[in-house]
Amino acid sequence: MRRVRMHSLGLEHPLTIEDDLPTPTPTGAELLLEVDAVGVCHRDVIDRTGGAPFIRLPITLGHEVAGRVIAAGPDAHRFRPGDRVATLHRDACQQPDCTACTLGETSLCERAMHVFGILADGGYASHLLAPESAVYPIPAGVPADEAAVLHCTFGTAYRGLRAAGCGPGKTALIVGAGGGVGSAAIEVATRLGARAVAVVRDARHREHCLALGADRVVVAPDNAFHKHVDAVGADLALDCVGQPTMDATLRSLRLGGTAVAIGNLVRERLALNLGLVIVKALRLLGSSGASARDMGELLALRGARPFLSPRKLLPLTDADAAHHALRTPGAVQGRLILRA
Ligand SMILES: [Zn+2]
Ligand SMILES: [Zn+2]
Repeated sequence: MRRVRMHSLGLEHPLTIEDDLPTPTPTGAELLLEVDAVGVCHRDVIDRTGGAPFIRLPITLGHEVAGRVIAAGPDAHRFRPGDRVATLHRDACQQPDCTACTLGETSLCERAMHVFGILADGGYASHLLAPESAVYPIPAGVPADEAAVLHCTFGTAYRGLRAAGCGPGKTALIVGAGGGVGSAAIEVATRLGARAVAVVRDARHREHCLALGADRVVVAPDNAFHKHVDAVGADLALDCVGQPTMDATLRSLRLGGTAVAIGNLVRERLALNLGLVIVKALRLLGSSGASARDMGELLALRGARPFLSPRKLLPLTDADAAHHALRTPGAVQGRLILRA
């Protein structure tokens, strides 16, 4: 097998390409996947530059994998060789004494130890070992490059929007709509029947948001977008930016509205206007990742209509260049996908 290895933290240390390694054998409830596509996520670059304190080194990055099962361990019962699957961020214990797993809320399992790209090797490789609880099935007709990025962007957006009650007749504010999860959220909110209002800092993102189905785009370089949102306010908001925008997000909501924090791009703490939360009877939730059940619902929402998010395919050997491109403002439109 071939893999792209990270031995040291920091973009100044190039990733290493390793060839002709023995292909691993799955044990227990593991699956061996042949990797068809792996997404290059901003989180990979953050992890590479020291953003994940518990990262194991050396490691193979990549938590956005789509592939095909080519072998299954003796205790793997849900998938067989030939099945197409994609990865969740991590595994789940699936034990009867785990409340989260019993309820199908596998992304909330506190016993998860197999976290791709941080605690376990990920998919910047030709092959990947994955516990079967860390993957979900991909239907025929969903291409590998789309499947690879479904969980981290569309799944995260879907779970957050559903937690906020997104549905027909609702107005959903998408804050940070130019990014990966924000762009996905426009498409998901629209398909759920809501009216999507996109908030971006840069006017160059306006056409992109409208093309994805946004009803309206608010360009707010100063983050004071609450002054431009309808006086009635939004029913719900998905905030992908965090501390810089959360105050305006809460101010944009109607009485009883719900804000979901889904991204935090800076380290500064939020000064929360608690009086506003109380007087407007707001709900503020956090959300991350998505369960296998969320992904099944999302795939049903997709049906035969592919999501529009633009993707660019690169060879696996371009992983290092892809990371540097992600650090260059404006260099990447949409998602970069590596193929072995
Ligand atoms: Zn990701
Ligand atoms: Zn569990």
